[in-house]
Amino acid sequence: MDEQDRRALVVEDDADIRTLLVQVLGQAGFAVETTASGRDALGRVQRVDPDLVTLDLGLPDLDGVEVCRQLRASGSDAYVIMLTARDDEIDRLIGLEIGADDYLSKPFSPRELRARAMAMMRRPRRVFRDGTPDSPAVLQLGELTVDVDGRVASLGGEELDLTRTEFDLLATLLSGPRRVWTRDTLLHQVWGTNWARDAHLIEVHIGNLRRKLGDDSRSGRWIRTVRGVGYRLGPGV
Ligand code: CA
Repeated sequence: MDEQDRRALVVEDDADIRTLLVQVLGQAGFAVETTASGRDALGRVQRVDPDLVTLDLGLPDLDGVEVCRQLRASGSDAYVIMLTARDDEIDRLIGLEIGADDYLSKPFSPRELRARAMAMMRRPRRVFRDGTPDSPAVLQLGELTVDVDGRVASLGGEELDLTRTEFDLLATLLSGPRRVWTRDTLLHQVWGTNWARDAHLIEVHIGNLRRKLGDDSRSGRWIRTVRGVGYRLGPGV
């Protein structure tokens, strides 16, 4: 992605935090738009097609959870970072499976936000450059095909409707199909962070990915759980 083309939408009703977000994301190379309204945010996502949305949980009209749900339902694949006022809300929010890519609690460190935003924008390249420099642009395993450059994944010739995070997760697993991926490695590879608590974040995205691959939760035809370690992409029998 060309740096000048990066667009971010900040959805935040606190003016001070909004200013800080604009500053941090501007320094990270994003052209930033802002709104204090959840409803307005939904319209803007359609018009602006942002790469990244920072979404406050507590908004005066629609709350962040509902905005994120509607944003996904409308087909937006923007990276979404939810900002919450309380640390202990994050686990509950992750459990709701609203389609957010990452979570951060306030007050957040500008450096942490910047690092996460930059990691998100690097993701398509990370899959290749970390560990597998010569891997082909199209990865394949059985009926599963992932065109990393084109960002299209398909199963048995049918295109899968994946969020960006699900795509990155699948592409990473497929870059080492017989490898057992620990949760820490996946966090580092896909989210660019090693937060121990984020293991739950992986479980939820793996769960969504499994559903879209038609995996039975117990048999795990494609994504197998290696107990106490992490995940491995199965051969798809
Ligand atoms: Ca708020």
